[in-house]
Amino acid sequence: MPRYPRADGRLDFKSLTLDEIEAEIAGLGSEKFRALTAYKWVWQRGARTFAEMKNIATPVRVAMDEKFYIGWLECEGVIESADGTTKFLWKTDDGYQIESVLIPDGDRLTLCVSSQVGCAMACTFCLTGDLGLKRHLRPSEIANQPLQIKAGLDTRITNVVMMGMGEPLHNFDNLVAALRTYLAEDALGFSHRKVTVSTVGLVPAMQKLAELLRVNLAVSLNATTEEQRRAVMPITRKHSMAELLEACRTLPIMQHKRITFEYVMMGGVNDSMDDAARLVDLMAGMKAKVNLIPYNENPSRDIRRPSDERVHDFQTFLVHRGVQCSVRSTRGIDISAACGQLGKADPRSATDWFSRNRTASPA
Ligand code: SF4
Repeated sequence: MPRYPRADGRLDFKSLTLDEIEAEIAGLGSEKFRALTAYKWVWQRGARTFAEMKNIATPVRVAMDEKFYIGWLECEGVIESADGTTKFLWKTDDGYQIESVLIPDGDRLTLCVSSQVGCAMACTFCLTGDLGLKRHLRPSEIANQPLQIKAGLDTRITNVVMMGMGEPLHNFDNLVAALRTYLAEDALGFSHRKVTVSTVGLVPAMQKLAELLRVNLAVSLNATTEEQRRAVMPITRKHSMAELLEACRTLPIMQHKRITFEYVMMGGVNDSMDDAARLVDLMAGMKAKVNLIPYNENPSRDIRRPSDERVHDFQTFLVHRGVQCSVRSTRGIDISAACGQLGKADPRSATDWFSRNRTASPA
C-alpha cells in the first residue's frame, strides 16, 4: 500500500492499516499496544497531533511524530439546502476540490462520499464526468470525509454511500484501505450493512471487492439494451451489460444481500414502458432491488426529467411483476448536491456549520 510520504519523509498515518502502523513503529517497544492506542486517538477521538495522545509516553509520541503525519482535508465551504441536505466542499493538500453530501432522511443520516478528484468514466448524464480524472483520492482523504463531518454532528452518521465524485472501484486499493477504516471497530466502526459501494460495473474489481469485504453493492445500470447503455455509459464498450449482469448473478455477495441497481430515468432515453418490460427481464432470477432516479435537469445537458406520472407507471410496472423497486427522492437540488451534479462548484460562502452544530472545527 502506498504510504504517501511528504517531502520530509513522514508517512500518511491515516492511509495505513493498523498492521502497517505496527510494522512501521517496530522497535519503539510494545508496538501493538502503542499502534492501537494512536490509531484509536486518530479515528475515534479525532486527534490532530501526536502531542495530544497523553496516554502514550512522550519519547514514543515524538518518535511517531517523526515517522508520520496526520492529514486533514481543509473545509472550504458548507452549503445547506432547504430540504436539510448539506454539501461540503473540501480542498486537498495539493489544492484539488472534492465534495461530500450529508442527507437526512427520517432516522437515517446518510453521507455520500467522493473517491476521486473528477472521474474517468464519462457517463453522459453526469457533471462530474465532465471534469475527467484528476487523481485518485488517498485512503486518508476518503476516510477523512466521514471523520471530519462526524466531528460537527451531535447525531450519528448512520449510512455511508460511495456515490460522490468518482468511480470507487477505479481507485480499488485506496477504496479497500479506506473501507477497512470505515468498518474497523477501533476506527470509524460502521456496520458492513450500512456501507454501500456504487459502481458503473468494473466487473473484475466488483468480483475482487465481493471476495474481500461484505459491503453493499450498487450497480449503476441506466439502460435496458446494450446499445442504449453504450450511448450513456462508455464503460459498456469494455464490459458489456450482459457481462455485468452475469457477474452480478454470481458474486459471492449474492448469498447475503440484494444488489441495488441504480437507474437514472431520462425522458425519451430509457423511460419507455418497453424499457420497464426489458428491465423486468434483466432482473429475473437476481436478488436485486431497483432504485429509480428521475434525472436532475441542468442547463449543460439536453436531457429531460421524465414526468412524475411516467416514473410512477414505470415503478408500478416493475413492482407488479415482482421486482423490488423504489424511487429516489431528489435531495439538495437547490445546492447542486443531487445525483450527477457534483463537481460544479458554484461560488459559495463558508458558513459556521461546524461551530453551529458543535464546537469542533473540521480543519
Ligand atoms: S456517474 Fe459516477 S462513474 Fe459516471 S461519470 Fe459520474 S461520477 Fe463517474
